[in-house]
Amino acid sequence: MGKTTGFLEYKRRNGESIPADKRIKNFDEFHGTLSLEEQKEQGARCMACGVPFCQYGEAIAGMTSGCPLHNLVPEFNDLVYRGRWEQAYERLAKTHGLAEFTCKVCPALCEKACTCSLNGEPVSTKENERAIIEYAFDNDLVKEPVPSVRTGKKIAIIGSGPAGLAAAQRLNRRGHFVTVFERNDRVGGLLRYGIPNMKLDKRIIDRRVKLLEDAGVEFICNTNVGVDISAKELEQKFDRVILCCGASQPRDLAVKGRDAKGIYFAVDFLSEVSKKLMDLNYDSKRLIASNDFSFQSLKDKNVVIVGGGDTGNDCVGTSIRLGAASVVQLEMMPKPEKQRSASNPWPEWPKVFNVDYGQEEAIAKFGNDPRVYTTTIKEILSDDKGHVKSVITVLLQQQKDEKTGRMNMVAVEGSEKELKADLVLIAAGFTGAQDYVKKAFDAESDARGNVKADNTNYETSRPNIFAAGDVRRGQSLVVWAMAEGRAVAKAVDKSLMGYTN
Ligand SMILES: Cc1cc2nc3c(=O)[nH]c(=O)nc-3n(C[C@H](O)[C@H](O)[C@H](O)COP(=O)(O)OP(=O)(O)OC[C@H]3O[C@@H](n4cnc5c(N)ncnc54)[C@H](O)[C@@H]3O)c2cc1C
Repeated sequence: MGKTTGFLEYKRRNGESIPADKRIKNFDEFHGTLSLEEQKEQGARCMACGVPFCQYGEAIAGMTSGCPLHNLVPEFNDLVYRGRWEQAYERLAKTHGLAEFTCKVCPALCEKACTCSLNGEPVSTKENERAIIEYAFDNDLVKEPVPSVRTGKKIAIIGSGPAGLAAAQRLNRRGHFVTVFERNDRVGGLLRYGIPNMKLDKRIIDRRVKLLEDAGVEFICNTNVGVDISAKELEQKFDRVILCCGASQPRDLAVKGRDAKGIYFAVDFLSEVSKKLMDLNYDSKRLIASNDFSFQSLKDKNVVIVGGGDTGNDCVGTSIRLGAASVVQLEMMPKPEKQRSASNPWPEWPKVFNVDYGQEEAIAKFGNDPRVYTTTIKEILSDDKGHVKSVITVLLQQQKDEKTGRMNMVAVEGSEKELKADLVLIAAGFTGAQDYVKKAFDAESDARGNVKADNTNYETSRPNIFAAGDVRRGQSLVVWAMAEGRAVAKAVDKSLMGYTN
């Protein structure tokens, strides 16, 4: 801790974002950065606490507190303060090989657990991380080592999302031959085809993939394992197989009229837009003008999004950019409080009200937050061509189930309202890994529909088949997928070599 009074002297500052009414004109990233000098002051705010929860990364009251990668946060914050950027990068890279992604998309579990946030603003660790990794790229410090000795062992990784990338990076560094199979046309999983470009520019993924390829990782796209190539063939050709296939089975809406045209799952919608943007060489103007989508054009359309979470928020931002006339986001749960409740103390994950970028943009464009709480869809109405024209919403209230004691959300009779809708996007979460992958490998599932594998050796019910990331833990966070990718690499290495370093 270089500056003992830093947290008293300097206020938290973040890079400035482009104002909401301007940034909605394109799909570019909009979050600005501080200068390196200014960032140093932010590093000085870190108190190097005796018990740094920021790097703890374990569950408290059922939710993760601090960084699952156990990043050495106080240490790199101190190096930021001292302006020792090269050493700060070395320290960050000790635990984290893909920081350029989390510094943009992570909800910053480290900051939520920061001691400064007990009665003030947390240290801006996420932006410090961003300054470090971008300094490292700008100054040619980021290298992917090419192993001098190869073990001769072959590993197949199914899925190129953050879990697959993290596992591939570690196993390749260990000298194993790594092949990553991806059913999409491009590498990246939900980093590529989920999280929109304004949150994470897709060229950032290309930059990392190039490094990994140059170091010897082989990526095979447009190959759907279980369809284009059998699980058996992979098991014969490779010494170990790791499932990093994500948990992409979307939760559907079981309501009357669901079969109307104009109803899409959120990820299908978001990935179609991202693909088109990349195919158009990141030309936002042409993307916004295009009507070459399965949903044709969103210009002047009324969009209803089912789900008030992060995926729904990405749909809000994307719909606004595509010219929607109105956007409503329906959320089943009540509006959270602005402050932590007494039963949700620091350093637990704060269950508090938050306005994300898409909602900020809706407020700028339409004058109100798009979220409507304790509400869901009861029925979908369509026109004479079978296309959705409106939805019937219903209010929900909490009711205790006398048998189980659990609180359920139940419909309030007589609260129905009709809401105009030209497009309905379902962002209601995910129910686990897709069945065909589990069937192809004959791997046992857990009660939540994920591939069963413990969190020590990551091996599934089938020998030599491992699993990590969302496919194992259910839909989660990029940082968790990376932590699991790193952990499964260790487990696989040990199973191949008898030890691991
Ligand atoms: C819209 C959206 C936005 C999100 N935003 C954020 C965010 O801002 N921050 C955050 O931390 N988390 C976010 N998340 C969650 C985060 O993206 C995931 O937790 C994370 O990507 C999981 O990583 P993964 O590698 O386990 O799986 P995925 O990223 O889902 O990657 C799995 C890959 O496996 C491929 N695959 C599957 N089956 C096969 C097969 N049979 N053959 C070949 N390939 C296959 C898939 O095509 C995919 O590319 C978001 C999720 C969604 C849906």
